Amino acid sequence: MRIVFATGNKDKMKEIKRILAGIDAEVLSMKEAGVYEDVEENGKTFSENARIKADAIYELLMEKEPELADETIVLADDSGLEVDYLGGEPGIYSARYLGKDTPYTEKNRIIIERLENAPEDERTARFVCAIAARLPGGRKLDTVGKMEGVIAHETAGENGFGYDPLFFLPQYGKTSAELSADEKNAISHRGQALRKMEELLRKELM
Ligand code: IMP
Repeated sequence: MRIVFATGNKDKMKEIKRILAGIDAEVLSMKEAGVYEDVEENGKTFSENARIKADAIYELLMEKEPELADETIVLADDSGLEVDYLGGEPGIYSARYLGKDTPYTEKNRIIIERLENAPEDERTARFVCAIAARLPGGRKLDTVGKMEGVIAHETAGENGFGYDPLFFLPQYGKTSAELSADEKNAISHRGQALRKMEELLRKELM
């Protein structure tokens, strides 16, 4: 079997290969599988967007290599940050929020500003990651992972990316940008969704 993960992000790919290492399949990036498409994510939820991407890339691969239909699995993910005080924003718009090219230092500063008057117990937020799989014969699998936290009063930490410096984990007394990659993977939305998917795939491939 080959598992193609629909992402162009190298860091995600490294992490995915590590978590799926125990599965009896070759794990490939889109580039390694020789396909590329910037799929329009027009779903209303993380799960819908992951599904749209997985199905689109699967169709593309099947056009290119129909002879591999029985041995191809496509995985895709969609993720983002939900801030309760902002009605769940930025949510599925996390990458585009406040402008696609706006630096995260700026995005994070603005979010903190928008929560200036928020009562302490209303600063709750979560990272969400949905993963969709498309298997031979049209079969589909879906998983979701969540990491709960609160919006910090000021950013901290140099690790991770995006909204990590803003996302405070009370049980660790740190932002997710202050965790090492391994510490974050062990608890993160993406790590959880991937490990759930790994379990489902393992059963499918037994
Ligand atoms: P995508 O799933 O690659 O489209 O990512 C969506 C966006 O959500 C990213 O560009 C980040 O803004 C945000 N995001 C998702 N996961 C994380 C994370 O683990 N840390 C920080 N930001 C994240």
